[in-house]
Amino acid sequence: MSDNSSSSLRTPIVAVLGHVDHGKTSLLDKIRGSAVSEGEAGAITQHIGATAVPLETVSEMAGDLVKVEDFDLPGLLFIDTPGHHSFSTLRSRGGALADIAILVVDVNDGFQPQTEEAIDILRRTGTPFVVAANKADTTPGWNPNPDSPIKPSYDGQSDNARKRLDENLYRIIGELSDAGFSADLYWRVQNFQRNIGVIPVSALTGEGVPDLLAVLMGLSQRFMKEEMEIDVGGPGKGTVLEVKEERGFGSTLDVVVYDGIIREGDTIVVGGKDEPIVTEIRALLQPRPNAEIRVEKRFDRVEEVGAAAGVKIAAPDLDDAIAGAPVRVVRDQPLADVIEAVESELAEIEVETEDN
Ligand code: GDP
Repeated sequence: MSDNSSSSLRTPIVAVLGHVDHGKTSLLDKIRGSAVSEGEAGAITQHIGATAVPLETVSEMAGDLVKVEDFDLPGLLFIDTPGHHSFSTLRSRGGALADIAILVVDVNDGFQPQTEEAIDILRRTGTPFVVAANKADTTPGWNPNPDSPIKPSYDGQSDNARKRLDENLYRIIGELSDAGFSADLYWRVQNFQRNIGVIPVSALTGEGVPDLLAVLMGLSQRFMKEEMEIDVGGPGKGTVLEVKEERGFGSTLDVVVYDGIIREGDTIVVGGKDEPIVTEIRALLQPRPNAEIRVEKRFDRVEEVGAAAGVKIAAPDLDDAIAGAPVRVVRDQPLADVIEAVESELAEIEVETEDN
């Protein structure tokens, strides 16, 4: 690479899927909450639609399981809206917008209809994933070890408690096998590309969350580093999470940017109901930290954001934009080429949706 190359590694984008009530929201809340209670300012950054957890914070939460010096990926970006509906509408270049996923399965309930649906989507999109076998703390006789890595906690349980948890875990491993995935308890997995790691966790006590973060980081670093390589100064590329009316701004787009950089004043092309929308960014907005509900101003303006990040785009003419559609910054390439790229990507998404 030449000296003035601006290639860099971005944060992997993580999605959380699973059956209703299996603990997706609680797990995300736990990850955000533990990160914040690690104390330091900048422990996490709340984006529009996503939460960024920098490598240093991941390491603080995961202890010995994640050593900063072993990684050069900058952290993890969690999409805040869990569920496979949002996952399957969020695409990038024909693949899934998320680079990696957490499939949450209640240890007591095992696979349920939406677990099966989520598995199908993960298979179809070829998205690497880990299974969080959640609610381990509800195992009869469980002795909780808040925020601990799961292996020492598991080893320290009574034989009875461990046996009951094992029964549930092996049932899930069997269900994964029925679905065509070879899986095992994560501490037995040698090759995470070939085998799915099952991590017992509790979104309530935080047990197993260090392990979950360690496996996400490890998987991303080992198998997805090339995909995380981006041209930091290049034209921004993103996917619309949601089209939202905001007072004072009209229709806005909540977007996850997965490549390049996006700036105030940029011309963008966005997938629309009938045809691509060409417009100019009036403002880029992030949630204002600690904004009180009744405070008038909920957003801070930022001049630019680089991948991977969530951001709100305020611009004219966004009424017909659609969730899941591509967003492209027009910088050095002809406008017609960008419009064509957006059109063909949109056509691909529509075909997929009709298939479902
Ligand atoms: P979602 O529908 O998948 O987002 O599930 P929620 O996060 O809303 O959780 C559903 C219910 O399970 C809530 O009452 C949570 O408090 C509870 N729950 C989630 N995770 C755990 C856990 O690890 N342990 C226990 N005991 N309860 C949990």
